[in-house]
Amino acid sequence: MFKLDIRENVPLAPLTTLEVGGPARFFVTARTENEVGEAFEFADAYGHEVFVLGGGSNVLVADAGFDGLVIQIAIKGVERDGPIVTAAAGEDWDRLVEYCVSHGLAGIECLSGIPGSVGGTPVQNVGAYGQEVSETIVSVRCFDRNDGRIVELSNAECRFEYRKSILNSSHRDRFVVLAVTYELKADGRPKIVYKDLIDHFAQGAASLHETRDAVLRIRRSKSMVIEPDDPNRRSAGSFFKNPIVSRSVFENVASLYKEVPSFPAGDDGVKIPAAWLIERAGFEKGCVHGNAGISTNHNLAMINRGGATAAEIISLKNAIQAAVAERFGIELVPEPVFIGF
Ligand code: NAP
Repeated sequence: MFKLDIRENVPLAPLTTLEVGGPARFFVTARTENEVGEAFEFADAYGHEVFVLGGGSNVLVADAGFDGLVIQIAIKGVERDGPIVTAAAGEDWDRLVEYCVSHGLAGIECLSGIPGSVGGTPVQNVGAYGQEVSETIVSVRCFDRNDGRIVELSNAECRFEYRKSILNSSHRDRFVVLAVTYELKADGRPKIVYKDLIDHFAQGAASLHETRDAVLRIRRSKSMVIEPDDPNRRSAGSFFKNPIVSRSVFENVASLYKEVPSFPAGDDGVKIPAAWLIERAGFEKGCVHGNAGISTNHNLAMINRGGATAAEIISLKNAIQAAVAERFGIELVPEPVFIGF
């Protein structure tokens, strides 16, 4: 009845950048939009829970694995009509950035080197160095799990906020991203607003290519580009969101330290880098916790040092959260999606 190649007991760790966790009871790779629909029909017919997997760069799988169907989205294809680019969800994100930069299209150059696939970018409104995908997304093509139809969500309908959209909040688990359409600027200027980039280009104007190269260099220096010989490579990138706190909470932190890095956020909020809080709470770069640990190049990346279990990662996460809460009264919220917990 089902033509799909559904496999059983497929290890998930190799499909994630953290390389941690157990198998999926059922697993299917969807290479077309139709296959996504068929996979959900299979799950519905047998009452299986579903997890949709993209690039695996932002997930932590439980040691026992996932007792349901994992659908890996592997739909490919990029189409361009002038500055309008539509990419299928399974395309590698950084290859799309490279493609746009090489065609002189501005708007996503600061998002170079981010691991993962195109489909993940609207979900949490991926952003870096002052640029967010919400600035260029025109629409997001989705499979609607409620009625099995395909819908095009406009930018406004996605309700993008800082690391947030309806896809990871009010409508979490309803829409599966199939493709994303971006409107870029032909012959546009790169966006240079963050200190790291401003310092880098202090000598003069930068091209899109130079901006991409600079972002890649900065990210590499923090082990935020996955490279095979980097001992910090097994990670899910930033493990915590950068907290936005009220003025009074910020004053409390500022009463403990002379110089607290901070940035205004919204009407009355203050954004404090999570990495700074983690370090001041006693978790330094390179800190070891069994086979888990913190990257030697970035306090915000928890790593699998080799052979780590999900339990070890969770135990380190809990210890960091408890220490930051006790020292600063701030709750750190994890960024990765937890599967099978
Ligand atoms: P970073 O550049 O050391 O910055 C640390 C914090 O300072 C971040 O919260 C950043 O805000 C904030 N910040 C720095 N300059 C700012 C400015 N001019 N205006 C407002 N806020 C400013 O951060 P990092 O950890 O090395 O990461 C590099 C970039 O990649 C950051 O932009 C980070 O957010 C981004 N990143 C994004 C994701 C994601 O989208 N899921 C995951 C990992 C890293 P922002 O967070 O708003 O940039």
